[in-house]
Amino acid sequence: MIKIHNTLTRRVEEFKPLEEGKVKMYVCGPTVYNYIHIGNARPAIFFDTVRRYLEYRGFEVTYVQNFTDVDDKMIERAKTEGVTVKEIADKYIKAYLEDTKKVNLKEEGMIRPKATDHIKEMIKSIKILESKGFAYESNGDVYFDVEKYKDDYGQLSGQNIEDLKAGARVEVTDIKKSSVDFALWKAAKEGELSWGSPWGKGRPGWHIECSAMSEKYLGATFDIHGGGQDLIFPHHENEIAQSKCSYGGDYARYWIHNGYINIKGEKMSKSKGNFFLLREILEKYEGKVVRFFMLSSHYRKPIDFSDVELEMAKSAISRIENTMMNILEKLDTVSTEGGNNGEVMNSKLEEIKSKFIEAMDEDFNTAQAIGGLFELIKETNKFMEEKLSENGKKVLKDIFDFIKESLIDVLGVEVTIEKKVKDMTKELNELMENLGIKKGDGVANDTSEIIEFLLEQRKIAKKEKNFALSDKIRDELANIGIKIKDGREKTTWTI
Ligand SMILES: [Zn+2]
Repeated sequence: MIKIHNTLTRRVEEFKPLEEGKVKMYVCGPTVYNYIHIGNARPAIFFDTVRRYLEYRGFEVTYVQNFTDVDDKMIERAKTEGVTVKEIADKYIKAYLEDTKKVNLKEEGMIRPKATDHIKEMIKSIKILESKGFAYESNGDVYFDVEKYKDDYGQLSGQNIEDLKAGARVEVTDIKKSSVDFALWKAAKEGELSWGSPWGKGRPGWHIECSAMSEKYLGATFDIHGGGQDLIFPHHENEIAQSKCSYGGDYARYWIHNGYINIKGEKMSKSKGNFFLLREILEKYEGKVVRFFMLSSHYRKPIDFSDVELEMAKSAISRIENTMMNILEKLDTVSTEGGNNGEVMNSKLEEIKSKFIEAMDEDFNTAQAIGGLFELIKETNKFMEEKLSENGKKVLKDIFDFIKESLIDVLGVEVTIEKKVKDMTKELNELMENLGIKKGDGVANDTSEIIEFLLEQRKIAKKEKNFALSDKIRDELANIGIKIKDGREKTTWTI
């Protein structure tokens, strides 16, 4: 049974989709006026993981994430860069897709509507709101009349309209009836990007974009709505007001919000200037490291972002990769009759498989799920120290498959162990040929044995004072990504 913390009720609830076996979800996407920062990467990665997990649990998921490609910030940016709003949008949508591809977002089947392709739908919703008395026109702008909906307004963010009015920084002018009213349509200023409408030339407000696009692709009532915590108010509160009043229906039934990213204990924000672009981070760290880092904490908790944390994620991934590579090598060895038959290890594996599902079922606790994987890694390393029977090897193969499935398919952390081992064997064999070194008897075809063999050849070359050859072996190994380190006792290597 999957349970979800629903912001609307502030409780962890059993997840029951509207239609059995199907999940419809909408996640607010980026406003494409700049490269995304890591604060935007967190919901992208987390909700992609939610989607992957729901699919893993057998649901058919319709996943919509929009692009906000018209907005005040976009218009401003276009002015400073001296280009059109569309050019800004195209540039940063392309950049968004490039950046998020590296953190392995599943694009297959994803619906990514752009706001500017749905102006007609937005105008239609505003007209409905107007005809039902929930909206009013003022100087070419159209506002949502919050007073008309005051009984339900503020439920998601846990506020009431009187407090909101008291706290509103915006002065009441004669344009709006109330300080809490928000724009559905904004009249265009001279020379601004605009569309024709019953209220004159203008453009939609931000909130109505999501209401109109979610209705088009998911209907008036759908299962999950996600986004960052900072969107709860006013964005999501306003989406609910607009959608319920125009289309009827319940709008989203489960609201999921992810926490902030902190830098040195302070909330990361563009206005404070303490933010990092995902792009900058990806120059130093691979996408899988960033993804793993994001999923190592519970999604509702704030997450501390620093190089130290990323380095920790990086070494955690190497530990998993090393074990997986060792599994492959062990599977290549001959089984030992009377060796460990894996019975105990198999029950451990089954236990960890259930723990993984339990953790993910309980409000997508990726941190706990990852904890279970490390327990498995530790046990597997011990298990591999022993000689294994045919059945023991079968258990080892099951472990490998489970790590791959849970880590790569569900959590989306793309470790590429199999390929690396195969490629290296091929490259190593080519290297041996180039160096004119012939393998003696008893050298198996796996990566570590060939490397050990080459290191032995290097030692011999050194002894014979053939430094040209010994250096060549070292350099060529480095070329294919194998670093060697000469110790006092022994030469060691790492990939
Ligand atoms: Zn939205």
